[in-house]
Amino acid sequence: MQGEAQSIKRGFYLAALLVALPVVGLTWWLNQEHPYVRYTYPLFLGGFCLWAWRLWAGARLERIEREVILAVGLVFLGKLAYGFFSPEPDWSEIESAYWVLAFVMVLVYLSFSPRQGLWVGLGVVGLTLVLGLLRFGGEWASSEFLSFLRSETRLLAMAGLLYLLAAVKDHLARANRQVEEMHTLARTDPLTGLPNRLALSERLEAEIQSPHGLFLALLDVDHFKQINDRHGHATGDAVLKEVARRLQAGLREGDVLGRWGGEEFMILLREESLQNVLAALERMRESIAFWPFEGVGAVSASFGVAEAQFGDTVHGLLERADQALYQAKRMGRNRVELAGLSP
Ligand code: GH3
Ligand code: MG
Ligand code: MG
Repeated sequence: MQGEAQSIKRGFYLAALLVALPVVGLTWWLNQEHPYVRYTYPLFLGGFCLWAWRLWAGARLERIEREVILAVGLVFLGKLAYGFFSPEPDWSEIESAYWVLAFVMVLVYLSFSPRQGLWVGLGVVGLTLVLGLLRFGGEWASSEFLSFLRSETRLLAMAGLLYLLAAVKDHLARANRQVEEMHTLARTDPLTGLPNRLALSERLEAEIQSPHGLFLALLDVDHFKQINDRHGHATGDAVLKEVARRLQAGLREGDVLGRWGGEEFMILLREESLQNVLAALERMRESIAFWPFEGVGAVSASFGVAEAQFGDTVHGLLERADQALYQAKRMGRNRVELAGLSP
């Protein structure tokens, strides 16, 4: 999608350049008596050809956009200097060049970082100030000097305002990112990196709204207390991580796995067929029980699974899965038990 938008943009730029080329060429041809047009337009034509070629050759759009913005800035600085130093300064032309420079500053803030935007803004203000003082300095009371001062003040205010806006935008984006990070952190189990109880509860509340084809499985590692007692808490933690890894490897597209608490995990499955659910859980059970765990030996887990029904609550569904899990424990552990339907 991103690539498609980029290629549409590329095509649009190329079309715009192909229209601009003959227009600028014709303007140059018809205005030979105007020195600014006569000497600068060939430069534009050269620039347009170069960019058309770069667009065609697939250069990065972002780079071309930046080059164009800076080139437009330079052109209008040139136009301003020309306006300043022509024998009869046309103040409306000068004003329009000032406006374009202000517009270029906005574009610079959109395409570069706020810091780069500030430097370009101050550079433009500084250069125009020097040019203006060279031209109008000394004639302090002249109307032209006053017009120059007014335009210059406006440009400086614009540079400051843009920097402030860009800085505020940056600050907000950073704060937003932090909030998102905290949101993720609050919903992630630090040991396994899986969704935690809060995340699972939220997900369950959402999923139960369409109960058709929703299964909830709870699994509990068997005799986990013994593992802790025999090998220590750190090894217990390593076992939990490995169980999480094996369960994750057995997930199908759309299944959600999380740590419900302690040595209990939850799996939410979206599936039409009960047989497929039982087969998937059976594979997961086997993936834990089949291969020994490093430094511990055999580990197993018991599974209880319940199918959501219409009118189910999260509490009711959890309760049935928990009952099935209890049943699996009672029947000897290391097995998958299916909950009966609620009455
Ligand atoms: P059962 O087969 O009936 O499930 O027996 P069990 O020993 O697994 O059951 P029990 O609930 O008595 O023991 C669970 C143990 O899990 C107790 C608790 O100390 C331990 N535990 C809970 N959370 C963690 C954890 O994050 N890390 C470690 N290492 N141990 C944990
Ligand atoms: Mg337990
Ligand atoms: Mg247990």
